[in-house]
Amino acid sequence: MFKGKKDLIGIGAVLYVSISLISCGGGMNTQAASSPQDSISLIDSPEKVLDTVRRTDGLLTKRWKEPVKIVQDTLHPISQDSVAKLVRFERRRIKDSVRRALDSKPKHIYFTFDDGPLLGSKAIDSIVKSRNIRINVFLVGKHAFMSKGLKRDYQRYYDNPLVECYNHSYTHANNKFTTFYSNPVGAFNDFEKNEVDLKLEHKIVRLPGRNIWIYDDVRRIDLQSGAGTADLLYTNGYKIFGWDVEWKIHGLTGKPIQSVHEIYTRIRNYMNNKSSMEPNNVVLLMHDDMFQNKKGQQLLTSLIDTIQMNTDYKFEFMRAYPFRY
Ligand SMILES: [Zn+2]
Repeated sequence: MFKGKKDLIGIGAVLYVSISLISCGGGMNTQAASSPQDSISLIDSPEKVLDTVRRTDGLLTKRWKEPVKIVQDTLHPISQDSVAKLVRFERRRIKDSVRRALDSKPKHIYFTFDDGPLLGSKAIDSIVKSRNIRINVFLVGKHAFMSKGLKRDYQRYYDNPLVECYNHSYTHANNKFTTFYSNPVGAFNDFEKNEVDLKLEHKIVRLPGRNIWIYDDVRRIDLQSGAGTADLLYTNGYKIFGWDVEWKIHGLTGKPIQSVHEIYTRIRNYMNNKSSMEPNNVVLLMHDDMFQNKKGQQLLTSLIDTIQMNTDYKFEFMRAYPFRY
């Protein structure tokens, strides 16, 4: 692995601003030129040139995530104001073009269901079979061993090739999150027990009560108290995934907190605005117990149908996350 120096030069495009351009009347001439001696130029590092050869090089994603770096020509200083204006203008121009480019690439939706097996799991399992979509379940071992019925529901998930089973801890922190995370080794052991007892094949976890992401080059922590546990898991080969959008339905009544239309619109906005953790990838969080009631189950079917009829989003396993273009 080549980390460090190489990454620094490889990230995004470096924008050179030469001052001659602005000092002549302060105009916003933004034409790209071919060398740093010219007004503005976009320099590609050798690493990026290599990247473009690969199938999905991730270059657009890099450009989207990394702000354009502005390097001033110190021999010809210009006013801070002019630089700031130019920087804003250039960033917007580049973001717009990257967004258009990303829009032409495939888009990926990840349905994730937490806390199963629970009442609702069986219905989820049969709905995904009927619609033939891939889903992800983050399982709690304790629930699987609470009754014969739930054990069967776990087994149903486990045997369904459209469902991938991941780790949401054995005890779900007994819903005492701060206490649970105050002992990272204890919490880590709880995840390991879950992995063994549920025979989980993938080192992919979601932390109970925390929207934390640690994978590849990403580390995002929502609440600091979970960070120690998340880091320990990551160091031991796990990927930690949070979510972009959450859908809530009252489990007992099937009454939605957000209607199908609302949640569908939200997903579309995230996809179009590239405001999810990874552009063109949106992770939706739901909970198994939302679908214990017929009404709730109809809403799930309706959301899937709406997405399938109106978009070309691909339903994916978290194992494949993220697709970077
Ligand atoms: Zn949970």
